[in-house]
Amino acid sequence: METVEKELLRGGQFLVKETNCEDVFTPEDFNEEQQMMKEAVMEFNDREIIAHRERFEKKDYAFTEECMRKAGELGFLGVAVPEEYGGLGMGFVSTMLVCDYISSGTGSFSTAFGAHTGIGTMPITLYGTEEQKQKYVPQLATGEWFGAYCLTEPGAGSDANSGKTTAELTADGKHYKINGQKMWISNAGFCKLFIVFARIEDDKNITGFIVENDPSNGITLGEEEHKLGIRASSTRQVFFNDTMVPVENMLAGRGEGFKIAMNALNVGRIKLAAACLDSQRRITTTAVQYANERKQFKTPIADFGAIKSKIAEMAASAYAGESASYRAAKKIEDRIAIRQASGNTHQEAELKGVEEYAIECSILKVAVSEDVQNCADEGIQIFGGMGFSEETPMEAAWRDARIARIYEGTNEINRMLSVGMLVKKAMKGHVDLLGPAMKVADELMGIPSFDVPDFSKLFSEEKDIIVRLKKVFLMVAGSAVQKFGPDLEKHQQLLLNASNILIEIYLAESAILRTEKNAKRYGEEAQKEQIAMAKLYLFNAVEIIKKNGIEGVISFAEGDEQKMMLMGLKRFTKYTNYPNVVELRNTIAEKVKAENKYCF
Ligand SMILES: Cc1cc2nc3c(=O)[nH]c(=O)nc-3n(C[C@H](O)[C@H](O)[C@H](O)COP(=O)(O)OP(=O)(O)OC[C@H]3O[C@@H](n4cnc5c(N)ncnc54)[C@H](O)[C@@H]3O)c2cc1C
Repeated sequence: METVEKELLRGGQFLVKETNCEDVFTPEDFNEEQQMMKEAVMEFNDREIIAHRERFEKKDYAFTEECMRKAGELGFLGVAVPEEYGGLGMGFVSTMLVCDYISSGTGSFSTAFGAHTGIGTMPITLYGTEEQKQKYVPQLATGEWFGAYCLTEPGAGSDANSGKTTAELTADGKHYKINGQKMWISNAGFCKLFIVFARIEDDKNITGFIVENDPSNGITLGEEEHKLGIRASSTRQVFFNDTMVPVENMLAGRGEGFKIAMNALNVGRIKLAAACLDSQRRITTTAVQYANERKQFKTPIADFGAIKSKIAEMAASAYAGESASYRAAKKIEDRIAIRQASGNTHQEAELKGVEEYAIECSILKVAVSEDVQNCADEGIQIFGGMGFSEETPMEAAWRDARIARIYEGTNEINRMLSVGMLVKKAMKGHVDLLGPAMKVADELMGIPSFDVPDFSKLFSEEKDIIVRLKKVFLMVAGSAVQKFGPDLEKHQQLLLNASNILIEIYLAESAILRTEKNAKRYGEEAQKEQIAMAKLYLFNAVEIIKKNGIEGVISFAEGDEQKMMLMGLKRFTKYTNYPNVVELRNTIAEKVKAENKYCF
């Protein structure tokens, strides 16, 4: 297994190893089964969700529950659940695909869907005993029961392991008595099962429990929270007052809860990224349709350069987000398959598979949640005054998108995690950052080459830039680790800089590799607009990386060292031939306008 696994890039290794375009999975690689699933989900979304958009905005929680039941009948809730527990047992890519295409109707439904299928069910499929899985998973897979996840407390948000909820073993040793208050619990209003995290005695780490929702067992709910967005997603406080839970309902072992919570969140994060993708596509489509129709100065506003620029940027960021999300999803799926083939149970294989790519999960969560918000913001702008009105879908899309930056770990926490996890992996020898970082340090001191490379081949310059952008990360993060050692975690702003660099590299490289792969099979002419999107994304990424690189370097380096690093940064972010960005945007926008939708 070791040899096969070694051939597959490990999580975080994208930074130090070159990836061939043939080795990335792209949405164009969906097989027939995945295509069929995508169409079924889109059809469900159109018919059951989008057609009743206003009911969600009017806080019709019962309607959310009704739609969840219908999704269960169609098998959508059990896509990731193994067949022996009543699910469809489809792979990780298919799971992502369902989260993706179900997301654009309303954030209310996709939150209910994500909370149930992800954090509400996964802790049992990943950590449950055989008895627990047999007992609970089939009902969850079909939507007979709904699940919710109780981690957050009034005093324990980002610091999730600090919860005060207690679990006390009863004198007869048969039950744990749970007491405490949980907050912001999605699906609380209609779930039958809670995954609850509580502390036993003064354990360092919390413990996970499966708790059936039975009001006669000391469980009460707060009122529905009135929220900025996702208005028909049920969000309540949950109070446990001497709630008796059989000892056999403990998940994994005592004190294992924090690990369960974090691993469930890894899966949740990449799925949340997927759950922002179709929102972006649909916002772009809705915006271009309006822009094509709406005339000012006797001209469709879509013909104005200012609007074209927005349409192009919206499309390019959606394209990069989907390129990166499916690239990572397939890596996870492949690693799960390799582990299963070598004798791991599905449970062990999935756990390890997702954990391996936790860095990419955090990167994607941050990137796509911010892109969807920006996309919705520009969507409002394209609609002008009408964008501010409840009569058009833009304001709800904007409000719904806002939560994605907060839950499943805030974007600040995920940014710091992405770099922190990478440094840890390097320390453990799982990703060799030190060797490449030292090479970059040597390069900084050497004499730069003045050769003018041949950049005539498609993406040759862009791929060269990606190699150099990776050097920016290695230079900034490598020197920071050297300078601060374990104290680096106290330098949060520097970590945020490093993370912004990391995120942009992954997204830009994914968009380029996807497009290169497709240009090889469909021809460059057929990929004209995709090429423009990949180039545009990279151009923006270089600017972000430049700014974050400078900020990072000047925060800790002084004098000659600073000068040398800033010169390196200039070299590493240099274009030999700048792309004509206005032309790129026009190419993209003209296509989206002509197709009257996001069409990639
Ligand atoms: C609509 C909704 C649904 C939710 N659903 C669920 C659910 O189903 N189950 C569940 O358990 N929870 C759920 N949550 C809770 C959610 O996961 C938390 O809100 C989130 O983890 C942030 O915690 P907090 O709100 O306490 O914010 P805080 O942790 O107080 O954070 C406030 C700010 O401080 C920053 N911050 C915190 N710590 C640090 C640090 N160490 N360094 C730098 N910055 C820091 C944060 O990034 C943030 O910007 C939900 C929340 C909402 C709003």
